[in-house]
Amino acid sequence: MAKLYFRYGTMGSGKSIDLLKVAYNYEERGQTCLLIVPSIDDRNGVGKVSTRIGLSREAVICYPDTDVYKYIYELDKKINCILVDECNFLTKNQVRQLSDVVDKLNIPVICYGLRSDFRCELFEGSAELMAIADKIEEIKTICECGKKATINMRYQNGKVITSGDKIVVGGNELYKAVCRKCYKKYTGEIK
Ligand SMILES: [Zn+2]
Repeated sequence: MAKLYFRYGTMGSGKSIDLLKVAYNYEERGQTCLLIVPSIDDRNGVGKVSTRIGLSREAVICYPDTDVYKYIYELDKKINCILVDECNFLTKNQVRQLSDVVDKLNIPVICYGLRSDFRCELFEGSAELMAIADKIEEIKTICECGKKATINMRYQNGKVITSGDKIVVGGNELYKAVCRKCYKKYTGEIK
């Protein structure tokens, strides 16, 4: 039976590397994967799964109004696995559509993404995946203090930002994965 997976982690936890590894394992067995990334801006029409270690691969872009079930249903070729990067940017509806891909087409769907944003609030896609995924798995990273990092802290000009726009295009360098306690130290909530 196919399953809907949500594999979440902070920025820099190696989610995209894991995704490409899974794709490689399928393809090594002669099977086909479809890679999907949500559009977070429309600067270009090319979707890509990029990793910090330099590996990258083209992916199909889905826009907020894309019906991903319909798109996959209408594909000519047989797909053995759907891999979604940055799934936190999916809409709630798209997560529901992906669950139909699992339940009606019997294709496993593995979604990789962040659980919450820099304001410590769930992303729409992640909230829905938390609600309905068959398997929820955490890809762990370590905070500078040695504890597990759970929060994507956002910087601007050396200061921690706790409000404002959810999406900033252009850089991991603005973020740091920390544990909740260190986050509170950075924001001044804990001395
Ligand atoms: Zn810490």
